[in-house]
Amino acid sequence: MNIISKKIKKCEKCGYYHGFINEKFNGKVPVVCYCDLSSGRANELNPVIIGFPDGRLLWKPISDYKDENGKFRHIPYFAMGSSIPSQKSKI
Ligand SMILES: [Zn+2]
Repeated sequence: MNIISKKIKKCEKCGYYHGFINEKFNGKVPVVCYCDLSSGRANELNPVIIGFPDGRLLWKPISDYKDENGKFRHIPYFAMGSSIPSQKSKI
């Protein structure tokens, strides 16, 4: 991920970040919070990034994005394993 600029803010409901970033290889990519993930709204977006409460930005599993070589990458669900966000892991 090569972030050029970002415009994100903390969601008042869940504490995750949401907004969007400009990424060098993928252009404008939406950043979703836990509300978007749990409501399924994030599933309609691809690629999409999750804005964790600690400020980490990670590609959402089952999301295709372009890497620095212009190749599409697919993140399988298991790649994130137990780090899938849950409300309990809220900081
Ligand atoms: Zn939220």
